[in-house]
Amino acid sequence: MSLPLHASCHLEVGAIGQGTALEWTDGGTRDTHCIQMLRLGIDLGMTVIDTAPIYENGHAEEVVGRALAGRRTEAFVATKFSPEASRREHVIRSAEESLRRLRTDWIDLLQIHWPHPSVPLSESLEGMVRLVEQGKVRHLGLGNCTAGQIREALDTPAGPHLLSVQQEYSLADRSIEASILPLCDEHQLWLLAYSPLARGKIAPTDPRAVVLMEIAAKCESSIAQVVLAWLRRDVAVLPIPRSGSEDHLRENAAAATIDLCEDDVSRIDAAYAMRVEPVETDEIFVPDGDGVYTTLEEAIENRFDLVPGPADLAEKIESGELLKPIKLAVDRDDPHGRYRLLEGRVRYWAWVIAHRGKRPIPAVIEGLEEG
Ligand code: NAP
Repeated sequence: MSLPLHASCHLEVGAIGQGTALEWTDGGTRDTHCIQMLRLGIDLGMTVIDTAPIYENGHAEEVVGRALAGRRTEAFVATKFSPEASRREHVIRSAEESLRRLRTDWIDLLQIHWPHPSVPLSESLEGMVRLVEQGKVRHLGLGNCTAGQIREALDTPAGPHLLSVQQEYSLADRSIEASILPLCDEHQLWLLAYSPLARGKIAPTDPRAVVLMEIAAKCESSIAQVVLAWLRRDVAVLPIPRSGSEDHLRENAAAATIDLCEDDVSRIDAAYAMRVEPVETDEIFVPDGDGVYTTLEEAIENRFDLVPGPADLAEKIESGELLKPIKLAVDRDDPHGRYRLLEGRVRYWAWVIAHRGKRPIPAVIEGLEEG
């Protein structure tokens, strides 16, 4: 089957890729299934495979390597290095370990997973350029960077090797549309859209989903396919959905052939407009959970050794931009009427530290009454 290629590139890759993060492998028969899914995805034209050393502690890369046995040239492998490995020599070592796990001689795209606020971006980029010079890496990418960091990177010797930016982008999080997406269009960078299906949470029961259902019925497609087609409306965007189900994988691949008309795009844009509100930080509570800080003291202590930790990130926030708004939910059970923090725990505490709790934080609030 011949599927559309990604629009904004000189390389022949499919318009929709495959993600490989979290809960994706658990050894044994599950690995065999994942290998089959990856190979089927390539057969269906989803040739960009996005992975990372951190996924299943290196195991996702190993599974990708096994899936590519005898088929390496058919796929475009994108991997990353973790914030802990941001120093020049560590970037190189991390990529060499990825090469071993992936059982390949080259990585098509090496990306910064998250920049480390205490390591100069230019130092990480130097390590990445060295890998290109050594022929171990073909292209470079930036992940979870602010628009300012993307501009900074474009201005270094790594600039000519930069192919992509990887950010969260879905109907649930459209924060990149303000400055990052225009920057990608301007510099002809791909935008690898991660969590494009909002981690499977685009609920058909959400009143806004009526629009998606109507368009899906017209296109004889699923809601997920409409969402992927909506993301692809910008030539820079290459969504990388993750699926462990053969039916979903086939659906996602086929979404590359769906082109929405302007009217459908505008209806979806309007229904899922993203409202960012400034919220006082003491109107928010952080629910208890694994590896979560619920108080400022805990966040400063950083006993889980999060990298970056809240205090590291606070320094960056003081002098620059917040990557994206945090996500909150209206909590009708909270006796103090506060919002519950859903996403952005490190960013929240970093903001509190940076502004000493005196500045409202940009947030997207689920469950707010319209009006
Ligand atoms: P996602 O792709 O938005 O959502 C995955 C969920 O959607 C799974 O539960 C999957 O369930 C479901 N799904 C997939 N296709 C579907 C379909 N056609 N219909 C209905 N449900 C469907 O979320 P993600 O895994 O967070 O993101 C995708 C990839 O982005 C990751 O695998 C990773 O490679 C990358 N990522 C990068 C970063 C970063 O910091 N750079 C962060 C997060 C993710 P089934 O398995 O049942 O299909």
